[in-house]
Amino acid sequence: MATEELAPIDSYVTSAKAKIIGVTDDGLVLDRTPFYVRGGGQPGDVGVLRTDSGLITVTDTFRKSGVPIHAIEGSAPAEGTLVEAEIDWERRYTLMRTHTAVHALTAVIWYGFGAKATGSGMKPGEGRVDFELDSMTVDFGRMVEQRLNEELARHRATSILYMDRETALADPDLIRTKVNLIPEFVKTIRVVDIDGLDRQADGGTHVRNTSEVGGVSVVRAESKGRDFKRIRIALLEESEG
Ligand SMILES: [Zn+2]
Repeated sequence: MATEELAPIDSYVTSAKAKIIGVTDDGLVLDRTPFYVRGGGQPGDVGVLRTDSGLITVTDTFRKSGVPIHAIEGSAPAEGTLVEAEIDWERRYTLMRTHTAVHALTAVIWYGFGAKATGSGMKPGEGRVDFELDSMTVDFGRMVEQRLNEELARHRATSILYMDRETALADPDLIRTKVNLIPEFVKTIRVVDIDGLDRQADGGTHVRNTSEVGGVSVVRAESKGRDFKRIRIALLEESEG
């Protein structure tokens, strides 16, 4: 059972015709899917599968034994059923804006304060980054917010690059973001590049330009211990698109 995953190739695909090629206790397997599979701190997509006999609600998308699973509400249709798979685009697009903001934030913290990100996570409209920094000044959060918004407003293009492992391991930006931790069997590494700002090995979905993120506020900058600080950000309402 191999699924063609569309989201990592084109994050702006919102729907696709597909066939159910597997029915499991956890959910449905499709031959192709626009649904993003949970991973890299980004939640899995939700949405619907349209069939001739009605709508099936997809409540999550996750990977099990390497296979993308669409968790559904209600009873499963038969294997072989043709569907139109459609993601909840509003939610996903908000996640794309959030994810790009999170990457920009890690760069701002690195270039501004020399601190490496050690983890990140997000839900629609809200992101967090953990980083190694021994102390924060009182106005740290405000400074980060200002620089982050300046960078996002520069209309920086984002793009997806595919690099062989050796090239990626030699790239200083990717070393900073711990590309060496990717399992050795992964020979081609997907990289999200924000032009002139940030480059990370990443499987997530991103907007095409930082201008789509719109404004961002730093909700909180907190110390979680020595060398462990956490920043939470939130998207301001609408992007300028
Ligand atoms: Zn990411």
